[in-house]
Formats: sequence, C-alpha cells, structure tokens
Amino acid sequence: MDLDSPVVKRLQNVKSIILVLSGKGGVGKSSVATQLALSATTSTNAKVGLLDVDLTGPSLPRMLGLDGHSVHMGLHGQGWVPVHADRAGKLSVMSIAFLLKSKNDAVVWRGPKKSAMIRQFLADVKWDCDTLIIDTPPGTSDEHIALTEHLAPLADRIHAVIVTTPQAVALSDVQKEITFARTVGIPILGLIENMSGYACPHCADCTNVFSTGGGESLAKREHILFLGKVPIDPLLVKLLDDIKILQMKKEEQAKQGGITLSVQDQ
Ligand code: ADP
Repeated sequence: MDLDSPVVKRLQNVKSIILVLSGKGGVGKSSVATQLALSATTSTNAKVGLLDVDLTGPSLPRMLGLDGHSVHMGLHGQGWVPVHADRAGKLSVMSIAFLLKSKNDAVVWRGPKKSAMIRQFLADVKWDCDTLIIDTPPGTSDEHIALTEHLAPLADRIHAVIVTTPQAVALSDVQKEITFARTVGIPILGLIENMSGYACPHCADCTNVFSTGGGESLAKREHILFLGKVPIDPLLVKLLDDIKILQMKKEEQAKQGGITLSVQDQ
C-alpha cells in the first residue's frame, strides 16, 4: 500500500470520504449526493467536495446550475481548481463535464483510461474540504474498481451511502451493491429509500405510487442503518432539472447578499 501516493498526499486533510452507490440508474443517486453535500455545507461549518465519477453520465453540474463551467489549472502546480458552487467557497465540485468541449460529447473509454481519469480527479484536484462526497455510476463498474484501488490507503476514512427506490427490481440490484461494499471492505453508513411515495404539492398527503418500505426491510435484513425515505417531490424535480429556476434563485440570493443553496430553503 503506497502511503506516499499523490492521492494520499492530496487527500491527507480530508477527514471523511463518502461514496454514494446505487444498484440501478435513475433511482436518485446524484440527487441524494447533491442534497447530502448541500445540507452538509448549510447545516454545518464543513467544507465539502463533490466529485462526479459518473464519467459517462455526469449530472451534478446540471443539478447545481453549473452547466457550462470549466476548470482551470492553479498556479505553482496546485492542480485543477474545482468549481465553487457557492460564494462562500464551501462547496467545490469536480466533474468530467467541466472538461468536455460540449455537454453533448460522449465519453467512450475503456477501463484503464477511466481509471487514469479518476486517479487525476483524486490526486490532481485542489481539494480543500473536510468531507469528499463521491457520486458513482450505477452498479459495480470500472469506476468503482478504480476508486477502491486509488483510495485503498485511505480505507479508514471511507464509507458508503446506498440509495434505492422501493421497487423489487431496484432492491434486488441494490443487494449487489451491498455485497460489493462488503467485499471491498467499505463500511456502509446507511441506506436511503428515494422516490418513496408521492408528496402531493396541494395537500400534505403522501401517496404510495410504488410499494413502499422495501428499502427499510432490506436495511433491517442486512443490519444496515436505515437513513430514511425521500418522497417523489415535484418541486425537487423542478429544482434539480430546471437550471433556469435554480439559477434564478441563485441570482435572487446573490442580490440579497445570501449564499444559501439549500434545497429545503428554495
Ligand atoms: P441517478 O443518479 O440514480 O441516475 P438522478 O439523481 O439523476 O438519478 O435522478 C433521476 C431523475 O429523478 C432526475 O430527473 C431527478 O431530478 C429525479 N429525482 C430524483 N429523486 C427525486 C425525488 N425524490 N423526487 C422527485 N424527483 C426526483
């Protein structure tokens, strides 16, 4: 194990690394990663780094209204300076999307190239944060293997958060994710059941569109902490998908001198 590796040197002050995992795509893993990062920066004094290693489907920049931003090399070999999502500089974001010429460019790479890119994201970005939240692709892919290899010397500070929806098909896939985390020795902080019921915008009622509670029973069965249920919320779709709204809100906040980017506050 290389304790002098560039990755270890770069991340030596990062106290905690959280991998956000899901068995399937579209269950809300990136939304959860974004919300975790936003709530950590707004409810604590922590500085948070948010790294998007979903190389073929990066969505964090769009969710944070950062589409079109690019990263630059800092002076004196500092490495890439990540994009700051807030004015206070508490939330730094890095994604392959910031390196692509166009957001429609496709990343068609084999495993070794993906691994090299992920190593660069860990070792060559000027991470100035207490917690690094990593949004991973769904399933167990080249990206997961690369992460576990490059982060192996920092195993004592890595944890996983698992995201699922309540449907049986998502639950069966998430079981594989639990097995993966256990096989590579990453402790699981807990499981979140996303899209658990529909929160009506007109009344406070929550309707169970799909079955509900599957995530909770799986967590119980697997002796994993159940972190909670997040309903399908039409407002969240608007906030995450419609950058115009998010950017409008940010401009409004900037005018008022505010720096809050919390989803709850919007
Ligand atoms: P994944 O990262 O698992 O592929 P995303 O986070 O990109 O999934 O979410 C997929 C879509 O579902 C996005 O359009 C997102 O805005 C929406 N979404 C995620 N969670 C919720 C939720 N709780 N309520 C409403 N929409 C959601």
